[in-house]
Amino acid sequence: MLKKTDPAVIQSYLEDSSNLSGGFADGLFLPENEKEIIEITKECSSKAIPLTTSGGTTGTTGGCIPFGGWILGTEKLNKIIDINQKSKTAIVQPAVTLDALDIELKKLNLLYPPDPTEATAFIGGTAATNASGSRSFKFGATRNWIKRIKVIFSTGETQNIERGKLLASKQIHNNLSYKTPNIKTSAGYYYNDNSDLIDLFIGSEGTLGIITEIEVNLINRFHDTFDIIAFFKTEKDAVDFAEQIKTSDILTLEFFDHNSLGLLRPAYPQIPENSGAAVYFEAEALELDQLAQMLEKHNVKLEESWLGTNDKQKEELRKFRHAMPEHINEEFKKHNTIKYASDIAVPDDKFREMLNYYNSQLTSHNSQLFWVKFGHIGQNHLHVNLVPKTQNDIPIAKETILKFVKKAVSLGGTCSAEHGIGKIKHEYLQEMFGLKGISEMVKIKKHFDPSRILNQGNIFPRELLK
Ligand SMILES: Cc1cc2nc3c(=O)[nH]c(=O)nc-3n(C[C@H](O)[C@H](O)[C@H](O)COP(=O)(O)OP(=O)(O)OC[C@H]3O[C@@H](n4cnc5c(N)ncnc54)[C@H](O)[C@@H]3O)c2cc1C
Repeated sequence: MLKKTDPAVIQSYLEDSSNLSGGFADGLFLPENEKEIIEITKECSSKAIPLTTSGGTTGTTGGCIPFGGWILGTEKLNKIIDINQKSKTAIVQPAVTLDALDIELKKLNLLYPPDPTEATAFIGGTAATNASGSRSFKFGATRNWIKRIKVIFSTGETQNIERGKLLASKQIHNNLSYKTPNIKTSAGYYYNDNSDLIDLFIGSEGTLGIITEIEVNLINRFHDTFDIIAFFKTEKDAVDFAEQIKTSDILTLEFFDHNSLGLLRPAYPQIPENSGAAVYFEAEALELDQLAQMLEKHNVKLEESWLGTNDKQKEELRKFRHAMPEHINEEFKKHNTIKYASDIAVPDDKFREMLNYYNSQLTSHNSQLFWVKFGHIGQNHLHVNLVPKTQNDIPIAKETILKFVKKAVSLGGTCSAEHGIGKIKHEYLQEMFGLKGISEMVKIKKHFDPSRILNQGNIFPRELLK
């Protein structure tokens, strides 16, 4: 089995897009099959060596960054095992990227609907974080599309976990007092009345086992969709429009605030100068006349909007959408700071209150903090990113995000709708589930990972594992 201890090689596994620094590891395993993973887990368990699984390293919360022990790089497990056109399912190894799967599915006119923005992410990583994308508005998160996962536990045991095997059968739920809210969420171990064992593992951020195979459901590809980006004079116009269009049969519904457009303008000088906000949506079918009328009600002319009707135009618009997280991640890098970003979602009827709260807090401080609000307005889920430009702004950024989390929790929301907790959001998870909920999650962890070596520091502080 391939093992590496060269610091230069290890260095490339100490980063993801959280900018979390200080990670370190003694070595890297690069297994080529499940047998080797079983050997690794047995060896690390017997010697109490922490083991951190690494996927595409595109995560935003430091989940794949080790703080000691060894890294398990999954990249050699990158085969598409089967695509079954009849049953519309695919079986993949964990390091197949979203992009690689899509290339093969395209040839067969099939689609794997979850579309987290970063297509270099591994399917294993997206299952471990329960990632979502812009089309989650229509299709839900990764969890909804996974039929089966194969997991190797720290004991070296292997289990196929299929949908339909109830959590109740594991007698875990009897002791749980917390429940995962019924909104878009990826915060902590998933549990509600109807959840399966597979639901608990999806989104468990690699803390319970290593995912070595994933079976997913597919659908037929769409052809006649069109994409549109409409630029509004004010944020209120954009939000009102989003609320109205939400009831139509659309796939994607995204929002960009004034600052987001300002950040993108150097790359997209054609963004109208007087734009206060924008909405991007993708529809299967919509009468253009009807759309023009809807837009006009919110002071926008259809001809001033960007329309994507053919593949080339649609790709351009999608690139624009994807440019947003990339640009803001660059800002954090430029200012050499970890990502201060909310990943909050709230129930439908609480979105306006949450948005008002964001705005009141963002304009109340006196600092050079730069912020953007963008993302999945269709699911009441905006990413508010705060970039501290000076050292003095860092405590303000931290405090502001914590205030957002407290407000969201008071409204029945979640502290993490899609990115997970990783190593940088423990405090927020505690706000959401309280110490009791966290201690119950720690019990689940100890049940499945008795040697407590897997992905230490993800979801809750490693000190709680003692
Ligand atoms: C520009 C950009 C845009 C993004 N947009 C989105 C978005 O729209 N929606 C979204 O949800 N996320 C988004 N992300 C975040 C990121 O792409 C997702 O979190 C993704 O799921 C991470 O996958 P990965 O393979 O890179 O995992 P990594 O970052 O390598 O790991 C993530 C976590 O999964 C664990 N893990 C990885 N593989 C396995 C495995 N086989 N078994 C067990 N545990 C494993 C790791 O230990 C870690 O805890 C974005 C990131 C970037 C950089």
